[in-house]
Amino acid sequence: MNLDLRHSVCPHDCPSTCALEVERIDNRTIGRVRGAPDNNYTAGVICAKVARYAERVHHPERLMHPLIRVGEKGDGKFAQISWSEALDHVAQSFINKANKHGKETVWPYFFAGTMGIIQRDGIQRLRHVMGYSRQAANICTELVQNGWIGGAGGPMGPDPREMAESDLIIVWGGNPVSTQVNVMTHITKARKERGARLVVVDAYRSSTAEAADELVLVKPGTDGAVATAIMHVLFRDGFADIEYMKKHTDDWKSLRKHLINKTPKWAEEISGVPAEQIELLASQIGKTDKTYIRIGYGFARSRNGASQVHAVASIAAVGGKFQYLGGGAFWSNRIIFNWNKNIVEGNDALDSSTRILDMSRIGPILTYEDEIVRQGPPVTAMLIQNTNPAAVAPDTHRVLRGLKREDLFLCVHEQFMTETAKMADILLPATTFLEHDDLYQAAGQMHVQVHRAIIDPPGETRSNHWVLSQLAERLGAVHEGFDMTEWELVDRTLKDSGWPGAEELLERKWLDVQPSFDKAHFLEGFPTPNGKFKFSADWSALGPLGYKLPSLPDYCPNIDLATKNKPFRMITSPARNFLNSSFTETPTSKKREGRPEVLIHPKAAAKLGVVSGDRVRLGNEQGSVVLHATLFDGVQRDVIVVESVWPNAAFEEGIGINALISAEPGAPNGGAVFHDTAVWISKLD
Ligand code: SF4
Repeated sequence: MNLDLRHSVCPHDCPSTCALEVERIDNRTIGRVRGAPDNNYTAGVICAKVARYAERVHHPERLMHPLIRVGEKGDGKFAQISWSEALDHVAQSFINKANKHGKETVWPYFFAGTMGIIQRDGIQRLRHVMGYSRQAANICTELVQNGWIGGAGGPMGPDPREMAESDLIIVWGGNPVSTQVNVMTHITKARKERGARLVVVDAYRSSTAEAADELVLVKPGTDGAVATAIMHVLFRDGFADIEYMKKHTDDWKSLRKHLINKTPKWAEEISGVPAEQIELLASQIGKTDKTYIRIGYGFARSRNGASQVHAVASIAAVGGKFQYLGGGAFWSNRIIFNWNKNIVEGNDALDSSTRILDMSRIGPILTYEDEIVRQGPPVTAMLIQNTNPAAVAPDTHRVLRGLKREDLFLCVHEQFMTETAKMADILLPATTFLEHDDLYQAAGQMHVQVHRAIIDPPGETRSNHWVLSQLAERLGAVHEGFDMTEWELVDRTLKDSGWPGAEELLERKWLDVQPSFDKAHFLEGFPTPNGKFKFSADWSALGPLGYKLPSLPDYCPNIDLATKNKPFRMITSPARNFLNSSFTETPTSKKREGRPEVLIHPKAAAKLGVVSGDRVRLGNEQGSVVLHATLFDGVQRDVIVVESVWPNAAFEEGIGINALISAEPGAPNGGAVFHDTAVWISKLD
């Protein structure tokens, strides 16, 4: 029997945005999902959690009908209502709240549960047309993006497929085996065909580190010191490419002077990485033209994260690596897509005086402790799409307290009964990517892709776009975008951005928009005001907290340092079978992850009298959580790891790991500091 294979695109919050082939069994059912073999980035490989997507899309616990709360907030007791009743209720609640407090009291809140441009970003149109509070969408990329912009300018860079042409690949602060599997496809090719060396710099022996030739095990928040010392060696030993720097960088002489005392020994004291290892890595980099540094997100999620990213990107500029095929540094291709999203986001209706609320600070905002919200009306109404702040946002205690407020009207549009959904007054059932049309870019690669629904929406599920258009009608929000179909929005956005229309792209399946070699390698100039890589970053131009970061690459101790009372530094790295809180509902992912655990170094555990399987309590001034210990020697002795994001309910006391994460903004312009936390540990009986 011939399989009915349909082209699709992974919508999940992952830089790979894989091209998919989905087996369609009938108009309600899918079979296997696999990577498109003819897409030269995806190259037929996808992660296991999406390969078993049938488990998620046909999950018996999918939300199927609009619901209204009938119990206490958070009890999860709801009654079924019709769509028109639900939408009328939401619209009337928004109108009532806005009449009482002003329009900024309504805060539409979203993130990247789907990365599709139409279904993710359409909520902006409702916000802009209605004058509701804006959102600083900074929970994921703000810190790493600002770090990159501080040196290289707009996010783009050498083609990630070029890793297959590299001789030395350094994965710095990322774990692609678990979170971006396609990166490994191109690395594996380089290793097999060229004998390339893979080095991982991370705070723990991740799955990627397990597969690498070498692991540089760093204390969280000290990567900047290691990068700075590597540059010290490059200058000291004649590996710095002076001719390249004269032509393509700014301020290299200041950098050279600044680095004189930043020796590997200095970095060892700070980072715990042996000076000999730093010397060796620096010398490998110095001798290898085709050195490709793949910058991850992990080490950026720290108060000093932007400065750390800047320091690492600077290595490639000092060594002149950007001029070689298979060389340079890469974080994201964000700017190559040239999007004009005006029709999707309704930017023509934006009033730039409307306040901006920091999504990573949803806890203090909802508890009225945030400075900006205190200067205006409280948030008393929300529509949440594509995110689950009750589990994923920092400062869980405040988030839950805020979401439970009786005076907060909460509408959540979701696929599952998440912990945020449970808090809703009105809960609306959402489609998955297989049941609606959308348009995708891939920040970690170079393809634009479109997607048409493959199966019918189950039950009464509806797309984000449909819900927004229905609400707009009831709220009197007038904009052309609300009168268009999803596919028309796809078509218009593509054409407004200078790309072929939707039908043509569907026919072609994807469009490779990777810039030319000279542009991508910045030989025509970096996307900075003067076309040069900036060793002296102007952080204050990027945000109000810029003064907290050093301009030149350095170690920046502006972090939650370990103390006598909180002797461990904690990172909360992504669990392989979850994607943030998505897939925490699928049986296989749950089974493979087991239970929330903390990885503790055996010597630290011995001092605490802890053995594998013991229950321990982790805590700091924000609260404490209980979970099980696993002894693990792939960390420094004073570092612990809790792979995430488990629901709060998976923890013994119903409160999850993000309770310990501060909502303090990272510098220079906010962003969640998920890997910048000092804690204490005590053994439980
Ligand atoms: S690797 Fe990322 S983009 Fe690819 S299928 Fe998995 S989650 Fe989706």
